Amino acid sequence: MLPVLYVVVPCYNEEAVLPETLRRLRDKLSGLIAAGACHAESRLLFVDDGSRDATWAMIEAAHREDERVCGLKLAHNRGHQNALYAGLMAARDRCDCAASMDADLQDDINVLDGFLQEFQKGCDVVYGVRSARESDSAFKRLTAEGYYKVLQKLGVEVVFNHADCRLLSRRALQELSHYREVNLFLRGMVAHMGFRRAVVTYPRAPRFAGESKYPLSKMLSLAWDGITSFSLRPLTAIARLGGAICLLSFLALVVEGVAALCSAAVPGLLAAVTSLWLLGGMVLLSLGVVGSYLGRLYAEVKGRPRFAVESALLPPARFAPPPQDQ
Ligand code: UDP
Ligand code: MG
Repeated sequence: MLPVLYVVVPCYNEEAVLPETLRRLRDKLSGLIAAGACHAESRLLFVDDGSRDATWAMIEAAHREDERVCGLKLAHNRGHQNALYAGLMAARDRCDCAASMDADLQDDINVLDGFLQEFQKGCDVVYGVRSARESDSAFKRLTAEGYYKVLQKLGVEVVFNHADCRLLSRRALQELSHYREVNLFLRGMVAHMGFRRAVVTYPRAPRFAGESKYPLSKMLSLAWDGITSFSLRPLTAIARLGGAICLLSFLALVVEGVAALCSAAVPGLLAAVTSLWLLGGMVLLSLGVVGSYLGRLYAEVKGRPRFAVESALLPPARFAPPPQDQ
């Protein structure tokens, strides 16, 4: 039995690139179906993440023309991770496996062949890994690669140079829906889940058209989400730093006491002032880190929905949703 594949593509203000993405992905899916790599009921699922341009109108028009193009429109811009998650959860009850990729054609759509081959061999998770990042700026390449290393040092399991281009089996999608967190860092969650996995490499292309929807602020926020969702080590580091400072201060006090007893002059107003500023800075920074964990906890405790769906252009579900969703 051929697998029903859903290709999930989150889109935010992507009118510049969408006509080309639609054309290429439709051709690709037809090719895969014709080659007997996936079932004829396979679909492309475009998730409009609250765009303000013609993105949704384009998805609707493509759906009218070709039922293989499906759509999900979120009521508000909730960010890439939430949009992707919304699409994966819509695909969960309709497919045997779902692949995800960006709308800007930076991910090579030919990875789908490798994804399906690995899925047929019994893998539940297939990672798309960038073999080359020549298309990224030196700044992006350096910061991204440095970030993977920091995550690994902090004990967070991630696959080097893998972002959100991957295939998940229905079983893995069901498992993913058991993760209840609202601060999503999908690559960490998928790695955390386990299952039999494989890697398919591809060269990362430059964005085909339009501008990046990931400014530095969003990138930093995702990076910090990745750390706070999966590692408590920054908190432990603060405790250790506090301990070390206490110990040093105690030693300084002993030295000063001995100097006073020997009636030696204790110099250093400057040293006293700088160490005060240094300590003040460290305390504020530490408070900030603790506060950041607390803020995320606040969002988790409220448990607000991750997204609201405004419209859906989807075929009926093929499987009943798992009990926790009913
Ligand atoms: N995206 C989204 N919601 C957002 C920001 C981005 O759905 O709030 C989508 C975007 O349309 C694209 C993918 O996420 O399909 C990756 O974004 P982009 O290519 O702009 O990121 P970059 O490659 O520059 O890091
Ligand atoms: Mg991109």
